[in-house]
Amino acid sequence: MALLDTTQKLSILADAAKYDASCSSSGTRDRNSRDGKGIGSTNGGGGICHAYAPDGRCISLLKILLTNSCIFDCHYCINRKSSNVRRARFTAQEVVALTLDFYKRNYIEGLFLSSGIIHSSNYTMEQIVEVARSLREDHDFRGYIHLKTIPDADPALIEAAGRHADRISINVELPTVGGLKRLAPEKSEQRIEGAMGQMRTAIEDGADARSRYRSAPVFAPAGQSTQMIVGADAATDRDIVHRAAHLYGRFALKRVYYSAFSPIPDASAVLPLRRPPLMREHRLYQSDWMIRFYGYAPEEVGDAADPATGMLPLDIDPKLAWALRFRDRFPVDVNRAPREMLLRVPGLGPRPVQSILSIRRHRTLRLEDIARLTNSVKRLRPFIVTADWRPLLLGDRADLRPLVAPRQEQLELFAA
Ligand code: SF4
Repeated sequence: MALLDTTQKLSILADAAKYDASCSSSGTRDRNSRDGKGIGSTNGGGGICHAYAPDGRCISLLKILLTNSCIFDCHYCINRKSSNVRRARFTAQEVVALTLDFYKRNYIEGLFLSSGIIHSSNYTMEQIVEVARSLREDHDFRGYIHLKTIPDADPALIEAAGRHADRISINVELPTVGGLKRLAPEKSEQRIEGAMGQMRTAIEDGADARSRYRSAPVFAPAGQSTQMIVGADAATDRDIVHRAAHLYGRFALKRVYYSAFSPIPDASAVLPLRRPPLMREHRLYQSDWMIRFYGYAPEEVGDAADPATGMLPLDIDPKLAWALRFRDRFPVDVNRAPREMLLRVPGLGPRPVQSILSIRRHRTLRLEDIARLTNSVKRLRPFIVTADWRPLLLGDRADLRPLVAPRQEQLELFAA
């Protein structure tokens, strides 16, 4: 490996880290002010990315790999052994120094660290843990740390990572076992899920100990998350939704991140030539919200997908797709329906639903009241009943979909 200075390493290892999802922002537009017009950017550049802290704050993270060299050969990965990319490697102390330097200059509020595997899984994990340990113990660093861990590493090392990090990620990589075997043959679903199960136990034990003894050490207080690559294998959206629900349920994950596969230079012949539409990733995030915040069962979200292909529609969001498929559940009377049915009305999110529940304690709601709570009452009308409105035949119309579908230029409701 040629001798590189810190800036060169940073440019290589920050670029290599862009495939790791640490927030759901990959669907947003790339904007910047490099041409001198405007201010700010959606892409911090130089290894700085934006992510959401557990308390909802948007924070800037130094997002880098320790190294982009790897002894594994996962087909979808630009850093795989057989890839022809320029390699670089930071020492643990270089990452510590960079983090502190960026932090003191107020560029970042935390670190997101991942790595290719060098020498062995244990050796790499030791280096990752050493960065976090040194930041916390030698420098009393109190910023946010998100570590990607290696499931093959010694369980004691993964636990050590949890003692220093706020959040731990263990990537499942692909939505199906078949996909993992084909595209990442050196990885094993059993080892990945084994490590996640172990992490769940350690996080819960840590939280339990903290609730009893205030002096008990903090253990990964922001929980664990994972990432799934979408579009590199034949998994359908229905498969992905079911796998995500399984992971949330079994391992109490805080987040499943979906990352649309992007074709890489010198790609392996087993990969698709084209990336899936970014909108597919966005629809999967929306389906994730439906399960986590709107009370849909995973099977119900799967029902929003096309029965023949198993894919969610790209032109409308999955909640609207579900409502159009199950029209017999509508219209919903906003003056009487329980919260869980109100949440199923397309266009009504948790906040307007909460307002409806509060207002109707004092008086009956009319259509104009709903109009004040939403962006487009016109699209909502086929699905609701108010004191002065009932859709009659509107909900049965064969051409309802184009009437309620948003225009093509749609806001990125869930982009972060
Ligand atoms: S182990 Fe990670 S870094 Fe290495 S090839 Fe596989 S995905 Fe890429």
